[in-house]
Amino acid sequence: MTEAGVGIRIEGLSKRYGQGDTAVLALKEVNMQVAPGEVVGLIGPSGSGKSTLLKCLGAVTHPSAGRMLLGGQTIYHDGWKVRDLRALRRDKIGFVFQAPYLIPFLNVTDNVALPAMLAALPDAQARARALELLAALDVQHRAGAMPAQLSGGEQQRVAIARGLINRPPVILADEPTAPLDSTRALAVISILNSMARQYQTAIIVVTHDEKIIPTFRRIYHIRDGVTHEEAGEGREMNLR
Ligand code: ADP
Repeated sequence: MTEAGVGIRIEGLSKRYGQGDTAVLALKEVNMQVAPGEVVGLIGPSGSGKSTLLKCLGAVTHPSAGRMLLGGQTIYHDGWKVRDLRALRRDKIGFVFQAPYLIPFLNVTDNVALPAMLAALPDAQARARALELLAALDVQHRAGAMPAQLSGGEQQRVAIARGLINRPPVILADEPTAPLDSTRALAVISILNSMARQYQTAIIVVTHDEKIIPTFRRIYHIRDGVTHEEAGEGREMNLR
């Protein structure tokens, strides 16, 4: 695979917290690769290193050693290779969390458009792009509503739209379906899959959710800071 075709690549990534006797090696030479357009699952028990891995990839925590590439760019190689980590997070990475964290006093369109406005896209263009995403996610009829007026599933779709607005090559989703019932959880995964294909986004979904695990074609298991890869069932979802 050429570097330009890389969504996410992690090579020999290690993370140590603390020093000396109390040091914890949270990641031990982790390797991982997610192609553009691919959605993979990351599964592991509590304390296995999932959050640490997401925080390293999201440029929120310093790794201790190794290499990370996002969208063909080396962002870390035994040290950060990018000067402006805040711009990297804003432009290259979409975050989707368990709770939607919508801004309560902005309507749905402006919640989605905000990261694009912060990235200096003119307001009208940012809103047009937000509406296009809301339509793709089937919530365009809620465009003028306030977050409190939406159902949990609608809020989560709005949060996904916000994660996609800057067309990041990478989306990191941390337990995105935990609060949702089975139908809505599968709908969210189906949306992430079609968004991955449409925008060639590489997506990592950290989850414990038994409802969605059968949908992944590839799964990384993590235990005590060590990952291994496994083929998933890749069960097709016919919800959309
Ligand atoms: P998970 O997300 O899978 O529950 P974490 O990445 O949070 O796992 O934790 C992995 C290991 O690193 C655990 O042993 C945890 O106690 C340790 N750890 C996480 N954050 C810190 C920190 N800020 N300082 C020291 N140890 C930490």
